[in-house]
Amino acid sequence: MDSTKRTAIITGAARGIGREIAVSFYKNGYNVVMNYAGNDEAAGETIRLCKETGGEGRIISVKGDVSKEDTAKSLVDAAMDEFGSIDVVVNNAGITKDTLMAMMKTDDFDRVIDVNLRGAFLLTKMAARPMMKKRYGRIINISSVVGVHGNAGQVNYAASKAGLIGMTKSIAKELAGRNITANAVAPGMIATDMTDAMSDNAKEQIKNSIPAGRLGTPEDIANAALFLADEKSGYITGQVLLVDGGMGM
Ligand code: NAD
Repeated sequence: MDSTKRTAIITGAARGIGREIAVSFYKNGYNVVMNYAGNDEAAGETIRLCKETGGEGRIISVKGDVSKEDTAKSLVDAAMDEFGSIDVVVNNAGITKDTLMAMMKTDDFDRVIDVNLRGAFLLTKMAARPMMKKRYGRIINISSVVGVHGNAGQVNYAASKAGLIGMTKSIAKELAGRNITANAVAPGMIATDMTDAMSDNAKEQIKNSIPAGRLGTPEDIANAALFLADEKSGYITGQVLLVDGGMGM
């Protein structure tokens, strides 16, 4: 058991923003418990990239669908067994199933809510127990500008991301007295596989609407998560940090 370092659980860390958060936390000395949905090779690549940074913590991986209660339990058990504490939870795993509301299948509405919102609830609820006991914790939920402003074609996704914001604020109020903060990071348009699916034309249009004049990078989001996870950020709670190059102003 290694209890000298801070331990962070990060969901959906086999690629994109989640992978970058895992790499950044590892590089900054955290022990990392990374969750991934199913791609063993991609999870192995995240572990390799973490180790390449020369970070002095350890990293373990837990496969599983975040919308299942068993996965939350496995993640919390793995962190407690290996490292003896959970200091940070980053609920990053997310999916889109975009289409206009008139065409949206109920199953596609439900699935997006299950992964993006229910998944964050299950893990946070379970991880909060050891955090409360220790009287220390940092909960970071990866929401979206779409959860703040809405977006045509993303009724399910926007509802899940707005739900995360309401959940974050409620958890912040419930746990503030135990020295546990809960904040949301709301990325704008970040260059990952998720946004790569858009047409070049749509991407160009969005880029033109971003005052910073560029898409965000996974590192931009990882930096915000690292900041909120820091011990010195203990008086920041219930906030939504837009990391969007000014897009949402
Ligand atoms: P991505 O699709 O590249 O990565 C998402 C990760 O979540 C993948 O590794 C995937 O396997 C994992 N995942 C999906 N369903 C899962 C499940 N049921 N259980 C466990 N893991 C699961 O997307 P990304 O761009 O890296 O997005 C990461 C987070 O940031 C998401 O929550 C997304 O909604 C949010 N976000 C992204 C953008 C963007 O522009 N890319 C903008 C705003 C918010």
